[in-house]
Amino acid sequence: MDLGITGRWAIVCAASQGLGKGCAEALGKEGVNLVINARTQATLEQTASELRRACPGIEVHTVAGDVADPKVRQALLAACPQVDILVNNAGGPPPGDFRDWGRDDWLKALDANMLTPIELIKAVVDGMAERGFGRVVNITSGAVKAPIDMLGLSNGARSGLTGFIAGLARQQRLAGCNVTLNNLLPGAFDTARLQKTLKAAGGDVEVTAQARRKAIPASRFGDAAEFGAYCAFLCSAHAGYITGQNLLIDGGAYPGTY
Ligand code: NAP
Repeated sequence: MDLGITGRWAIVCAASQGLGKGCAEALGKEGVNLVINARTQATLEQTASELRRACPGIEVHTVAGDVADPKVRQALLAACPQVDILVNNAGGPPPGDFRDWGRDDWLKALDANMLTPIELIKAVVDGMAERGFGRVVNITSGAVKAPIDMLGLSNGARSGLTGFIAGLARQQRLAGCNVTLNNLLPGAFDTARLQKTLKAAGGDVEVTAQARRKAIPASRFGDAAEFGAYCAFLCSAHAGYITGQNLLIDGGAYPGTY
């Protein structure tokens, strides 16, 4: 299927590896020009080189830095001639017990996983509406639907973003102008973050991984490329009637009917 987005421009945050990189690759393969971001310059440049090789004909710009920093967000916007597609992403907050978290821990989580995407959305959606095309995808987490106790900072901050998007996506001045906003909710994907979580559990990593795979109906972890493919479809010309949704991609792990 031709996704109908060749020549468009996308900002993909936190995209040097993992799910963000999967989204950048899938969009790049559709002929979308990219502005990608991550904090570590060397890894980011390496990813940009891979993308240029894999997707000849597209432009790939890089902006290194913490996306929660307003100056980095300004640089991202300045590096993108026209933002048609915005993929919001950042590292997840650390796990722990809420009794150990102070106000600063909460502010950091809210800043990275709620306020940063909202600031970027604020900067781009009205322009998208004027041009009659816009796609915003926020990478959140399956924990939004089925909270994980240890991930309280993530549960809280991402739920805040989710509630905000539910309202904004339904503004007629956006939805009525072909601007969609959706959240993609990953379950367990085999990325560096997942490997870190498996190690943090202690014990034999492969035994822990096997137990986690067994608890997923698909009996495996997800792959960043399949996450990217879903994201690219949501950003496509065909997805203009999908907005304000929370879309799980978790191998069937979420056990509810709705
Ligand atoms: P990952 O493999 O660790 O990759 C994270 C990417 O984001 C890297 O490119 C990293 O590069 C960049 N990054 C992290 N913090 C950043 C920041 N503040 N500013 C700019 N770039 C930043 O992680 P992932 O598994 O792809 O996870 C992506 C998101 O999905 C996270 O929020 C995670 O919590 C969520 N999630 C993941 C899973 C899963 O199973 N993988 C499940 C549920 C939710 P630098 O370190 O160089 O900045």
